[in-house]
Amino acid sequence: MTAEFDIVVVGAGIAGASAAAELAADARVALLDMEAQPGFHATGRSAAFFAASYGSGVVRGITAASEHFFRKPPSGFSEVELIRPRDALFIAGADQLGKLEEMKAEIPNLQKLSAEETCKQAPILDSSYVAGGLRDELGGDLDVDAILQAYLRLFKQRGGKLMCRQQVEAMGFKDGIWTLQSGSHSLSAPVVVNAAGAWAGGIAELAGASSLQLQPMKRTAVLIDLKQLGDKAQNMDISGWPLVVDVDEQFYFKPDAGRLLISPADETPSAACDAQPDEIDIAIAVDRFQKATSLNIERVNHSWAGLRTFSSDRNFIVGFDPGLKGFFWLAGQGGYGVQSAPGLAQLTNAMITGATLTREFSPILNYEAEVAPERFLGKE
Ligand SMILES: Cc1cc2nc3c(=O)[nH]c(=O)nc-3n(C[C@H](O)[C@H](O)[C@H](O)COP(=O)(O)OP(=O)(O)OC[C@H]3O[C@@H](n4cnc5c(N)ncnc54)[C@H](O)[C@@H]3O)c2cc1C
Repeated sequence: MTAEFDIVVVGAGIAGASAAAELAADARVALLDMEAQPGFHATGRSAAFFAASYGSGVVRGITAASEHFFRKPPSGFSEVELIRPRDALFIAGADQLGKLEEMKAEIPNLQKLSAEETCKQAPILDSSYVAGGLRDELGGDLDVDAILQAYLRLFKQRGGKLMCRQQVEAMGFKDGIWTLQSGSHSLSAPVVVNAAGAWAGGIAELAGASSLQLQPMKRTAVLIDLKQLGDKAQNMDISGWPLVVDVDEQFYFKPDAGRLLISPADETPSAACDAQPDEIDIAIAVDRFQKATSLNIERVNHSWAGLRTFSSDRNFIVGFDPGLKGFFWLAGQGGYGVQSAPGLAQLTNAMITGATLTREFSPILNYEAEVAPERFLGKE
């Protein structure tokens, strides 16, 4: 049996779910995922932070245009708060002050802090380690699960069909129609959206497109209870601390429901897979945190890893493949796929259905050329 749609979206992480929800306003859309649950891969493993000052100018622009959506979502979208304010604090040791200056010049609205002021923001920082900081007051904790579930709900309300445990195994194109095979199911549509995260290169291969130099990179995170940090830290109220990130992104930590989430900010190239943490990366996370705080971690309570998938220029890839009719890329979300999802979903809808962007989202159109797949043509 072949089910017919206007658009088939492959991948029900935050990218595919948000785009599918927008597309379903005016089209018959199917959303496929190979896992039993949407969000099982990168989306369910993120640090859940909104960092307005993170990434290239393109990433920052699309993130900024997404901010209002998290703060004031459309009526009925979600009952819960999608973002809770939390500053981001970039810290530098004495040998990194130049990098801090560069960052301040590039993003002037960051607030410069002395070493003493920086350490006050997160009082476990070691004053002999920290030489200065920059504060970004536009940060926040994202409720990733609430955002994902709200998009999936909207998708279903608009008549979209979510199909889990459906791994796309083959694709063909004939007479302007794509046919996708997953097990005994066959789906057809004139437009396919490739939102397969770390597997986007594999989906492109099935479709006969080029892989556009996408590289999944593993990133690790650990959670520790404060009592693992000894007497000095265990009674501290950490709830208002910022996300503290090394200015060269060597590590970061942030409060997470009463615990501390720490990442070594690793970027290890990986094949697309169900990523698992390596002992060495956990040890690096612990070591870098200990150096910046002079505290000892006695035990790590929980650890995980996920894949952040980057294009070679670290900007998103959004747009129709110039060589394959009806094959749309929504890939390369890197370390910013949750915070930028509302903007990327709107852009996808505008490019596929011609939908008009609201005033808040319209700045995203300025980045169309910089995210277009065409930019990689001839560079392989
Ligand atoms: C440790 C860590 C921390 C992070 N922190 C942040 C952060 O603070 N803020 C932020 O914005 N971002 C963060 N990110 C990045 C963010 O998680 C990703 O950019 C985002 O989740 C990517 O979403 P996605 O939908 O493209 O990918 P995914 O969530 O991986 O979804 C892709 C989906 O495609 C499905 N799929 C693949 N192949 C097939 C197939 N053949 N058939 C059917 N389905 C298929 C998969 O099952 C998967 O569900 C972090 C990532 C990690 C790992």
